[in-house]
Amino acid sequence: MPPGNGSDPARRFDALVVGAGFAGLYALHRLRGLGLSVRVLEAGSGVGGTWYWNRYPGARCDIESLDYSYSFSDELAREWEWTERYATQAEILRYAEHVADRFELRRDISFDTRVVSAVFDERASEWTLTTEAGDRLRAPFCVMATGCLSAPLEPDFADRDAFSGELYYTNRWPHEPVDFTGKRVGVIGTGSSGIQAIPEIAKTAGSLSVFQRTPNFSFPARNEPLSDEEQGAVKADYRGHRQRGIERGGGFGARWAPVLGPAADVPPGEQREALEERWEGGGLAVLSCFEDALANPEANAVVAEFVREKIAGVVDDPETAALLSPDTMVGCKRPCLDTGYFETFNRPNVRLVDISEAPIERLTPKGLVTDGVDHPLDVLVLATGFDAMTGALLRMDVRGRGGRRLADAWREGPRTYLGLAVHGFPNLFLVTGPGSPSVLSNMMAAIEQHVDWITGCIAHLRERGARSIEATREAEAAWIEDVSELADASIYPTCNSWYVGANVPGKPRVFMVYLGLAGYIERCNEIVAKGYEGFALSPGGA
Ligand code: FAD
Ligand code: NAP
Repeated sequence: MPPGNGSDPARRFDALVVGAGFAGLYALHRLRGLGLSVRVLEAGSGVGGTWYWNRYPGARCDIESLDYSYSFSDELAREWEWTERYATQAEILRYAEHVADRFELRRDISFDTRVVSAVFDERASEWTLTTEAGDRLRAPFCVMATGCLSAPLEPDFADRDAFSGELYYTNRWPHEPVDFTGKRVGVIGTGSSGIQAIPEIAKTAGSLSVFQRTPNFSFPARNEPLSDEEQGAVKADYRGHRQRGIERGGGFGARWAPVLGPAADVPPGEQREALEERWEGGGLAVLSCFEDALANPEANAVVAEFVREKIAGVVDDPETAALLSPDTMVGCKRPCLDTGYFETFNRPNVRLVDISEAPIERLTPKGLVTDGVDHPLDVLVLATGFDAMTGALLRMDVRGRGGRRLADAWREGPRTYLGLAVHGFPNLFLVTGPGSPSVLSNMMAAIEQHVDWITGCIAHLRERGARSIEATREAEAAWIEDVSELADASIYPTCNSWYVGANVPGKPRVFMVYLGLAGYIERCNEIVAKGYEGFALSPGGA
């Protein structure tokens, strides 16, 4: 398709997909399988989404590679070889590129194409997407595969543009290698991105200052090469492996030590032994040691205290160790996996600057100022996160029936049915939208389930000769109740995380995740079995 000049009439497709990360790629593959003409619009210059943009040093998955893979194609699962327990960003990007080539997806993707608006035409029952370049594309169905963590946040520091050194954001890292050798480097942000990048940057920087506003819990990843035997065993029954992961809870961890009962039922000596076993095994397993760790504050405290002791045991300077120890519940914010993060603070070239009481005052041409102190820097790395879950959707002008703006419908927080659909926005599908398990599951499992559901739904509409499908107001309201009821039985709403939008000034505080992938899938399937319960279908050729 040639690029448009803004005066082209809108081009028509059966379905439009926004985003060419893992969700958009799979949506294209499946929708094509229905015989639809599909166009994918992607702001980046290549496929991979998260793994295209986040190229910072140390970037890796923290769900193990063998879990963090598509399961829809046995051939793909068999032929792709992961080299490490947690693949690097570069390897995951190669995987996304391999998928795009293997299933010949690129010919239907427009790169360097940012969608600025999506407007529903009720009369024609069609969505019109307009790109930044002014192109217009129309289709009855629109799938938003825009990502949960794809809208970068830029902190509003005073004199933000004053810094004359090198400035990098982890979430849109340059494609060329960045050389830190001998330089004075500052990192702002100690979430998953900062915690992965800091140990790598410290290896070559002349000096590294880590500006920490809030400490985070982090567990050792214990990355290692993957053996052929290990891969072979999982791949022999890849779909079964995924299913066992779903039954465990989040679509991953099928090979971990089992989840124990409530912490209070485990004698203290055995609690410690169980936690040690999972800590030594590496990864997120420590968090699922006891079944009530994310529901019961006392159980949570057992795990949190164990991790705090580990931090104190690793970091030589007690004052630094105390600053690195979170006093919140563990898991309430997204826990991190690291390779030598806490050990990094024992290096002579690394220091922790506590900015919890005195924030970054301003940037200067030569560095930054905090608490009245100048910090001269050659390089500043911002690992400051995302406007998660809703950011990418609301940065577009999305308008549904009657011209209603999604931004208005979501003024008090996102409202969806199943995290897949929004009342007032017919034939608009969200992949891993707010109100679905998304970021509290293996995202690959969540993406595949959503795309399969959406494809099944569109096939159903076409079989029925229905023109459109829309979530009812009542079903949406009941779903929101369910999401918050599950959340209220957990520790999640109690802390200031991006799960509740607390990292974005002015964002309504709403917990945006449906807890429990297995239960969620069951609900989705039941709704289909009951003839798309909670949805209204309009007759007349789709
Ligand atoms: P994305 O990969 O975010 O892709 C969305 C795409 O949509 C982007 O390419 C973006 O450019 C495009 N887009 C957005 N808006 C527009 C627009 N208006 N117009 C055109 N294009 C647009 N999850 C896990 O389960 N395990 C992990 O280990 C893990 N690690 C992560 C590490 C990092 C650094 C980050 C940031 C996230 C990680 N995640 C992880 C979450 C990760 O986002 C998902 O696993 C997955 O990659 C999401 O795929 P997606 O296709 O839904 O979204
Ligand atoms: P994040 O978790 O939101 O962390 C952002 C960090 O920046 C926080 O430490 C935050 O401090 C700090 N910050 C933000 N604004 C600031 C300001 N104005 N001044 C000082 N500090 C500021 O973002 P992220 O690290 O990019 O991770 C986001 C999510 O992406 C993760 O939770 C995870 O789901 C995913 N991810 C996964 C991996 C992986 O291991 N596979 C890697 C990276 C990302 P406060 O806490 O005080 O707000």
